[in-house]
Amino acid sequence: MTLRLLFVSTSVGPLGSGMGGGVELTINNLAHSLLQRGHQVQVVAPDGSQFSAAPIINIEGQLQVSAQHQSRGTPIEMPGDSVLGNMWAYARRVQADFDLIVNFAYDWLPLYLTQFFQTPVAHLISMGSLTEAIDQVISRAIAYSPQCIAVHTRSQAETFDFADRCHVLGNGFDLSLYKYCAEPSAGLAWLGRIAPEKALEDAVRASEQAGLPLQVLGHLQDQDYFDQTLSQFPGAQVDYLGFLPTDKMQQVLRRCRALLVTPRWVEAFGNVVIEALACGVPVIAYRRGGPAEIVRDGETGWLVEPDSVEGLVDAIANLSQINRHACRQQAEQDYSLAALGERAEQWFDKILRQP
Ligand code: UDP
Repeated sequence: MTLRLLFVSTSVGPLGSGMGGGVELTINNLAHSLLQRGHQVQVVAPDGSQFSAAPIINIEGQLQVSAQHQSRGTPIEMPGDSVLGNMWAYARRVQADFDLIVNFAYDWLPLYLTQFFQTPVAHLISMGSLTEAIDQVISRAIAYSPQCIAVHTRSQAETFDFADRCHVLGNGFDLSLYKYCAEPSAGLAWLGRIAPEKALEDAVRASEQAGLPLQVLGHLQDQDYFDQTLSQFPGAQVDYLGFLPTDKMQQVLRRCRALLVTPRWVEAFGNVVIEALACGVPVIAYRRGGPAEIVRDGETGWLVEPDSVEGLVDAIANLSQINRHACRQQAEQDYSLAALGERAEQWFDKILRQP
């Protein structure tokens, strides 16, 4: 059955800006995968968004503050003219034209609104448990609509009390956009939002100790943190290239010897892990969160004791044991758009069948 789907984007930044982190690529990938399967997709996103996969409605208003840096007891805050509120007012007006609304924002309001919509609302939760308020409102949404929550990985689900009520969707990528590279240059890569929970400093320190250059790509969310990191390791050869669109980003990434993934927090998935594997780039990651579920230790990279820079350096020394072709193969096997589309359809079907 063809579904008419309304995707409501994250409210922390326009699509294409990098401010939304991995969610931006996830929306793009999910739209592509469902369009390929014959469904209709319409996207609603903050003003200034760039999106080519599906028709988009840009909505004005003030951006939401990101939840990543809040403590567990932080209450919900919203600006006066909230883009989140405006996007959901739009969704309410047009809901009758759609079979299902899919929410990508890690925000209280859309979860709370689940019970007030006539059209079912599905929520793809992009981070692990961060605040009491969000945990509680997700539980309330589940009580009203038991199938409505999906997450990316089992480790992410397990940060919540309601782990067994979450669908695990993984993720999927347009693998034709990532070119396999058999012959890397000498450097290492680090990709992502530059913010403390991503612990760039560990990667810089490891690259300095290994005597290899480090290419850093991604949205600069916290300038002070970045300056401090660079000043701590004056001997490191760090090359910051900014936030690049996927085609340019993978041109740099695929030539690297390995991707270092060093999060301090439970990374929900880690899109960049699959993007690296798709180029044939082995991944060296801390054994925590989503990356630990993805990387096959000793086969498509190395899993290292969390927060151990020594472990990263040892893994870099053992990179020659990893076959780059096996990395590309893993991405093709588990993380294609077709695989994602199939899993998403199964999730939607459960929501639409619930009484
Ligand atoms: N990214 C990008 N260009 C860059 C660096 C990163 O498009 O130069 C994207 C990357 O494709 C990924 C996202 O930034 O989708 C980072 O997402 P991830 O899931 O790794 O972490 P998050 O930021 O969501 O915590």
